[in-house]
Amino acid sequence: MRMLRRRYNERFYRLARSDLSHMKVILVPVTPFQQNCSIVICESSRRAAIVDPGGDIERIIEEVARQGVTVDKILLTHGHLDHCGGAKALADHYGIQIEGPHREDAFWIDQLPAQTQRFGFSNAEAFTPERWLVDGDTVQFGDESMEVYFCPGHTPGHVVFFSRAHKIAFVGDVLFAGSIGRTDFPRGNHAELLRSIREKLWPLGDEVTFVPGHGPASTFGEERRTNPFVRDGVTA
Ligand SMILES: [Zn+2]
Ligand SMILES: [Zn+2]
Repeated sequence: MRMLRRRYNERFYRLARSDLSHMKVILVPVTPFQQNCSIVICESSRRAAIVDPGGDIERIIEEVARQGVTVDKILLTHGHLDHCGGAKALADHYGIQIEGPHREDAFWIDQLPAQTQRFGFSNAEAFTPERWLVDGDTVQFGDESMEVYFCPGHTPGHVVFFSRAHKIAFVGDVLFAGSIGRTDFPRGNHAELLRSIREKLWPLGDEVTFVPGHGPASTFGEERRTNPFVRDGVTA
């Protein structure tokens, strides 16, 4: 698995690499919130999934073209504007479907047009995903598949995508390097978020690399050692 991050200066850098694997992840920061949109590429089939295209879709389209891959689908972790604001336009552009998040986030997606104006984002359309996801589902693109974990707390319908083959998880705003998701939004729940992290994410393994919705990648093991909110031994 190779992970690259696209920067404004048109340079790439490598965050992690395993020579045995055949999946490439390119992070494209989008929206004024610098949300980590991930282009996840199955190298054997040259097909890709796009996780959380929050906006700036021309930048995503340009990167997809540069990679020369075919986009199979859009995957959404949760219904916040900076994660799914560009989903409908991108789905229409490629003629592909949207999978995720969990149905409990429908009320967020319905509010996209209003949120767009409030935060001065470019126009975000509301939509209904072709597939709502639940715990235990799998999503597929090319020859790759990822497991779906229901991780409510930051939003009530948040899901996380996990590639067991490549030991990488796309966790949206559940967990960050050194922090956790906000829970002061409508229907946010701090205790539920902590439970999601400890009961759904930690069992996936300390060695798992995760891509958060914002900021740098880390591993579950590093967060279990050092994250002040959820490290082992801390009670909240
Ligand atoms: Zn969020
Ligand atoms: Zn976010």
